[in-house]
Amino acid sequence: MRLTRYFLPVLRDTPKEAEIVSHQLMLRAGMIKQTAAGIYSWLPLGLRVLSKIENIVREEQNRAGAIELLMPTIQSADLWRESGRYEAYGKEMLRIVDRHERDMLFGPTAEEVITAIVRDSIKSYKDLPKNLYNIQWKFRDEIRPRFGVMRGREFLMKDAYSFDMTAEDARKAYQRMFVCYLRTFARLGLKSIPMKADTGPIGGDLSHEFIILAETGESQVFCHKDLIEGAVPGADTDFDGDLTPIISAWTSKYAATEEMHDAARFEAEVPVDSRVSARGIEVGHIFYFGTKYSEAMGARVQGPDGAMITLQMGSYGVGVSRLVGAIIEASHDANGIIWPVPAAPFEVALINLKVGDKDTDGVSADFYGKLQAAGIDVIYDDTDERAGGKFATMDLIGVPYQVIVGPKGVKAGEAELKNRKTGARETLSFDTALAKVVGAVKSERVLV
Ligand code: ATP
Ligand code: MG
Repeated sequence: MRLTRYFLPVLRDTPKEAEIVSHQLMLRAGMIKQTAAGIYSWLPLGLRVLSKIENIVREEQNRAGAIELLMPTIQSADLWRESGRYEAYGKEMLRIVDRHERDMLFGPTAEEVITAIVRDSIKSYKDLPKNLYNIQWKFRDEIRPRFGVMRGREFLMKDAYSFDMTAEDARKAYQRMFVCYLRTFARLGLKSIPMKADTGPIGGDLSHEFIILAETGESQVFCHKDLIEGAVPGADTDFDGDLTPIISAWTSKYAATEEMHDAARFEAEVPVDSRVSARGIEVGHIFYFGTKYSEAMGARVQGPDGAMITLQMGSYGVGVSRLVGAIIEASHDANGIIWPVPAAPFEVALINLKVGDKDTDGVSADFYGKLQAAGIDVIYDDTDERAGGKFATMDLIGVPYQVIVGPKGVKAGEAELKNRKTGARETLSFDTALAKVVGAVKSERVLV
């Protein structure tokens, strides 16, 4: 992408309305624009990041055996009356009346919709187990939308729903999502910690929140410090095999959110110097809730002996749009965002320091073509802005690698390669610079 043709409305000053660094940087980097409280347009740069995160979430869901579908944003109130949640859900639900005076709503979650789909289409135990997911916009009329996309009213969520015959099978489905989530967040460069959580209005008896530690987090959390560096299961994990050893390793040490915290247990189980009490951001939440919805909505299948069995269910959410902010909270410096390669809007920024100079233009164009041919996401700064401004913009938007081409270097057959994260700069021959940056990007695309 040539910067002269792109849409990148960066701001030089920090917007006053933004309280936390991720919100400030997303506005400054031209990633989002607010259209109403807690409702944002995703500008081109922001959308690139959102799409990359979405794809990683999708790849890991698929790897764990979940199947993608797409449910509507607008749901019928009648479905929620069947489950008994229509009245119970409260003011967070955006209720809509259509032209025929029918009660509709903008979905805050989709247990009812998916349960109706499965109830109407799956009749036999032979068609189980199933885990169906979608990545779709949700609306919750949060009392206090804040921190930009971290607590929006409209936000993108991955929500998966598992259906099993027995509680034992449902537990296995829960374990698959547990492992899947560890991998998903690690692939985004995040250290997530599963913590025992309250099940809230969704109900049920088994639940974990996946928390990223950050000072600006909204939850108070407590855990053993070993969990921060816990081993993440590899891409070769057998999701059909026994995942209990992985789950045990991650759940045997103390980790709980405030609602579930037991100070006495924490102090008894965790040595003083291993106690972590910190703020955290909830990026994912998994629940096993048995027959709560299937019972109310009549989702039953015929078992092997002909008897009808009420389905066992779980639900599994990831805050896809919240993750954009969470990654920035975890990875930034005074100059701006530092994207890990897998989530970066562009992997390489090619900076032409003297647009209009024939030789510099020629070498830059050559780099641009070769980076594109190598399959790298490259933003080519072909504007006539001064050098300082160009560096500041690329640092702000957080592109992991910069290739800098200037007239002096061109005469010597050299370009500069800068690493956004370490700040390290090295002067290299054209071919070496190209090979090195392509190699670095490709090796960092897959972190686990
Ligand atoms: P919270 O406790 O933060 O309000 P929740 O427990 O109500 O979240 P879930 O129903 O578990 O949320 O939704 C699944 C995921 O969706 C959450 O783990 C979070 O990452 C994300 N999420 C929930 N509410 C919002 C929101 N208002 N804005 C952005 N992401 C959200
Ligand atoms: Mg939650």
